[in-house]
Amino acid sequence: MIEPGATIGIIGGGQLGRMLSIAAAQLGYKTHIYDPHEVSCADDVAAYRTRAAFESVAAITRFGESVDVATYEFENLPSASLQALGEKLRPGVRSLEIAQDRAKEKEFIEECHGRVAPWRAVSSLAELEAAAGELAFPLVLKTRRYGYDGKGQAWIRSEEEIAAAWKAIGEEPAIAERGVAFAAEFSVILARWADGRASVWHSAENLHREGILRRSTVPCGQVVGPQVAEARNAAQKIANVLDHVGVLTVEFFASREGPVVNEIAPRVHNSGHWTIEGAVTSQFEQHIRAICGLPPGSTDLTARGAVMDNLIGPDVEDWQKLVADPQLHVHIYGKGEARPGRKMGHTTRVTR
Ligand code: AMP
Repeated sequence: MIEPGATIGIIGGGQLGRMLSIAAAQLGYKTHIYDPHEVSCADDVAAYRTRAAFESVAAITRFGESVDVATYEFENLPSASLQALGEKLRPGVRSLEIAQDRAKEKEFIEECHGRVAPWRAVSSLAELEAAAGELAFPLVLKTRRYGYDGKGQAWIRSEEEIAAAWKAIGEEPAIAERGVAFAAEFSVILARWADGRASVWHSAENLHREGILRRSTVPCGQVVGPQVAEARNAAQKIANVLDHVGVLTVEFFASREGPVVNEIAPRVHNSGHWTIEGAVTSQFEQHIRAICGLPPGSTDLTARGAVMDNLIGPDVEDWQKLVADPQLHVHIYGKGEARPGRKMGHTTRVTR
C-alpha cells in the first residue's frame, strides 16, 4: 500500500491530471506532474513539476525515481520511454499500447469476445478501396494513432468520397469501420485493483456533437438500460485480460444487436466527471485509491442522478451566469485561451 504523504507522479498535465491531483491532495498525497508544455492546467494544484519531452527516457527515469507510483492521464504516449517506470507505472504499459492504436484495440476487443463494428486496417488508398468494397457504406475512417475528440476521422458515404477521406486524415495508417446505426451512446467506467477487485459506476448516456462529448446523463435512458449488464461484463473482461490497475473506460454504442464497443480509454474519462458530485466516490479518487492499494470507495449515487455539460471553447465565457446558479457545480480548468473545440471546463447538476 502506498500511504498518504507519498508522491504520485502523473504523466500529462491536462484537466484529467488536474482533477486527479485534487483528489490525491484530499487523501493526503502530493502529486508531481510530467508534461512537455511550459505551463499546464494541472500545475496549479500539484506540488512538483517536470517539464520534459515524453520521449526522454532519461527524464522519465529521473521522474520515476522521485515518485512512489506513477500514472498517466492520456494515452498518446510513447510506450518505449514509459517502460523505464517499470512496476511503478499503474496502469501498466500494456493498457497504454492497446488503447493508443485503434487496430490493436479492435483486435484485442475481439479477442475478449466484445462486439465491434466490422472493420479493416488500411495503409494505402488501394487498401481503403478494397475495404470499402467489403464493408459497405457508410464508413468511418480513423487514423490508428493520435486521434481524439473526432480528430483524425472522416466519414465515407459513397465511392466518390473515398479519396477525399484518405487525404483528409493525412494518408496515415488507419482503420475503416462500418458506421453503426446506434440509438444512443454510453460508457462503462470501472476501477480495478491489482488483486482483481473491481468497482463500477452507473453508466452515463453520452451525447456527442462533432465528435466531442457534450453531455453525460445518469441514470441512462430506457434504450441503454437493458444493455448495461452485457456492456459491464465486456468491460470487466477487458480490464481483467489487460490486468489493468486503476480506472478504465469503455465507450459503447447501443445498437439493435446489443452493445458495440467503440473504444477503450485506460484512464479516467470525460463521461465520468459527474461522479465528483453525483457518486459517493469520484472516478478521480477511486483511481488514486486503486493505484495506491487503498480499499475501494462506494460508487453509489449521491442523489437520483446527475447531468454533466462540457464547457467547450467560448462556452466558458458564460461563467458569471453559471456560477450565479446556486445548484450548479461549476468546474473551470484554468487553461487560458478558449480556442474553439477546447475543453475549458464542465458543469454538473445533481438531480434531487
Ligand atoms: P471516437 O473518437 O472513435 O470515440 O469517435 C467520436 C464519435 O464519433 C463517437 O462518439 C460517435 O459519436 C462517432 N462515431 C465514431 N465511430 C463511429 C461509428 N463506427 N459509427 C457511428 N458513429 C461513430
